[in-house]
Amino acid sequence: MSSVKIDTCPVCGNNKTSVAFSCTDYYATNETFDVEKCTACGFLFTQNFPAEDSIDHYYDTKEYISHSDTKKGIVNKLYHIARNKMMKKKAAIIEKHTYTSSRWLLDIGCGTGYFLAHMSKKGWSVKGIEKNKEAREFAHKNFAVFSHSPKKLSDFEESSFGIVTLWHSLEHIENLNETLKTIRKLLVENGTVFIAVPNSASADADYYKQYWAAYDVPRHLWHFEPNTLKMIANNNGFGIEKMYPMPYDAFYISILSEKYKKTKFALLKGLLVGLKCYIKSINNKELSSSIVYVLRKKEIVNFSM
Ligand SMILES: [Zn+2]
Repeated sequence: MSSVKIDTCPVCGNNKTSVAFSCTDYYATNETFDVEKCTACGFLFTQNFPAEDSIDHYYDTKEYISHSDTKKGIVNKLYHIARNKMMKKKAAIIEKHTYTSSRWLLDIGCGTGYFLAHMSKKGWSVKGIEKNKEAREFAHKNFAVFSHSPKKLSDFEESSFGIVTLWHSLEHIENLNETLKTIRKLLVENGTVFIAVPNSASADADYYKQYWAAYDVPRHLWHFEPNTLKMIANNNGFGIEKMYPMPYDAFYISILSEKYKKTKFALLKGLLVGLKCYIKSINNKELSSSIVYVLRKKEIVNFSM
C-alpha cells in the first residue's frame, strides 16, 4: 500500500509535528493511524494516509450507494428525513449569501447527486465533482446530473461559477491548498464558497477523544477547527464571512462514537451525550459538532480575521 507522509503543515508551512493520538478505522478495516498535530498552529491531520491509488479499499461503495437510495427500515427513513431537511437549509443559506447574477453552481464531492438535483429544481445550473465512479453514474442515471472525476476540476474555465459548495468533502481532499486555489479561479469575482467540515474543537470531539467518529481515519485526512480553517482560507485568498453551526450532527456522531466504544445501550448513551454537547454548543457555535463556513474572495469584503 502506498501512503502519503505529511512533512509540512498545509496550514502554516511549519515542518515540526508531534503525534497527538492514534485512531482506529472502525468503519472499514480496523487499521490504526496516527493523528498528528502541527507544533506551530495546532492543525490536526492523519499521518501516512493511503495514497489515491489505494484509498478505494477504505470506502464501502455498496453501502454508500444503497444507503442513499433505499427507504426501507427506520434508520434509512430517518436518514432521508434528515437529508431533506438539510438540503432545504443548505439551499436557504446559499440564497442568503448569493451576491452575483451567475446561477452556476459547482458541488465538489457531490456523491449521488441529491443536493444538485434539489438545486437544479430551484433554477440553478449545476455541475458536480465526485471521485466515486458508481456515484457519478447514479447521479447521471437518476437525476440527469453531470458530475466529473476530480481530475477535471482544473479543466473548467475561469470564473465559471457563482457558487462552489463542499459539503463534508474538503477533509477528504489530498491537495488542500491547490484545490482551494483552483476554486478561487473558478469563482466569479463576487462568488461565494460554502465549506462544511467536522469541528475537531467541538464539545463532542472533546468528550470522545480518539473515539470521536468524525475523525473517520483514514478517509478524513484533515481535522479542521475554526482557527485552522480560517488560516488556510486566508492563505488562499479567502475570508470567512459567516459561520453556521450544524449542532444536530452531535447526535449522530455521538451515537456512532458510542458504537465504536462498544458501549452497552450505545443508542441511548449516544443520544444523551449528543444532547449534552448540543446544549453546550447553543451559546458557543465554535463548539458545534460540524460547521458551515461561508467564504468570499478577500478583496471583495474587508474581513477581520
Ligand atoms: Zn501548522
